[in-house]
Amino acid sequence: MAGSLRIAIVGAGMGGLATAAALRRVGIEVAVYEQATQFARIGAGIQIGCNAMKVLRELGLERRLRAQSFYPRSWNNRDWRTGEIKFDMIFGESAERKFGAPYLLAHRGDLHAALATAVPAECVKLGHKLVGLDEVGDSVRLSFANGATALADAVVGADGVHSLVREILFGTSPVNFTGRIAYRTTYPAALLGGERIDDCTKWWGEDRHIVIYYVKPDRSEVYFVTSQPEPEFRIESWSAKGDVRQLRAAFKGFDPRVENVLAACPDVHKWAIVDRDALPRWAERNVTLLGDACHPMTPYMAQGAAMAIEDAAVLSRCLEGVEPDGVANAFRRFEASRRDRTARVQETSRTNTWLKEKTDTDWVYAYDAWTVPLAG
Ligand SMILES: Cc1cc2nc3c(=O)[nH]c(=O)nc-3n(C[C@H](O)[C@H](O)[C@H](O)COP(=O)(O)OP(=O)(O)OC[C@H]3O[C@@H](n4cnc5c(N)ncnc54)[C@H](O)[C@@H]3O)c2cc1C
Repeated sequence: MAGSLRIAIVGAGMGGLATAAALRRVGIEVAVYEQATQFARIGAGIQIGCNAMKVLRELGLERRLRAQSFYPRSWNNRDWRTGEIKFDMIFGESAERKFGAPYLLAHRGDLHAALATAVPAECVKLGHKLVGLDEVGDSVRLSFANGATALADAVVGADGVHSLVREILFGTSPVNFTGRIAYRTTYPAALLGGERIDDCTKWWGEDRHIVIYYVKPDRSEVYFVTSQPEPEFRIESWSAKGDVRQLRAAFKGFDPRVENVLAACPDVHKWAIVDRDALPRWAERNVTLLGDACHPMTPYMAQGAAMAIEDAAVLSRCLEGVEPDGVANAFRRFEASRRDRTARVQETSRTNTWLKEKTDTDWVYAYDAWTVPLAG
């Protein structure tokens, strides 16, 4: 009977919150355990692909996200020095018609806050850092660093790239450091002194690039994210600071429109870019992984969160109406339904060629997690 399942979700990131909302939609009881004691609004943008928007629409978030995000005419790709257009991926209304949902550019904090409104606050337990999982009969017991424990019929590990749930299931394995770093920040567009930027542009250099876009509908906030070599830097943290002078020096000689954006930038964060190879398995009995916990990728297709959000919808379809003794099968079906797609996105993202020239994008943006056939 639907509603008889109790599922614990570890991690209240994009994947964990989307999963909680999607599971509740089919009558499943959820509790989300998050190590952080509060949600922080990190200065970062996020591209919400049409494929992710189809999921978010069913979770009731479309109107809010349209109102808070920027609706770009395209994702343009230019040569770093000459500004020559390599490929202009048109979004706007034509892509919305073709792919069935808009492509939006958001502040990461706005997307996260929107997802948080789709889950009742009492379902989200902040300050709960998972430290252990044990089988207790047919249930799983979760133990937390604060001394609390909880029992659930099944567990979803949505605990990000350094997932403890993955470690518990499959052992430790180091992430793949790409030897590259991302500088990123958001700041008020007023600092550009009246200079307007393109809606969304990736400036392709020889061994580095920068992506610049607006994240607010009134163009009041600008975001950029870079990728460049720096093999010694290995910190992945949303709060590690970078040096704007070093950043400007690294992009010296780029088109003046890029140099202007960097000259106006007051402050910047720095992040080591990592990924993993596709995992052969995602689930063990009544515990599964989802999102970056099982398929972390480089940010070059802007699809990491989109994959976690798609996972949420497909998982909810696999679990709908399932009794506790059917969870292991449902998790296997979920993995079988999602593995090829997420592995293809991981591999494609790694090449960092997405949209560099005319690219077939249908397979990414036309995907509809609510209707795609599930594995048998
Ligand atoms: C520079 C950069 C730019 C990006 N741009 C885009 C983009 O434009 N579009 C896009 O779709 N994706 C983008 N991504 C990818 C996206 O950020 C990730 O794929 C996405 O955040 C994954 O969501 P998640 O919920 O799986 O993991 P996370 O967002 O990492 O969330 C994991 C959560 O689990 C919690 N947690 C971890 N361990 C524990 C524990 N032991 N107990 C309890 N809680 C725990 C964490 O605190 C966190 O809240 C980008 C990534 C980077 C690095």
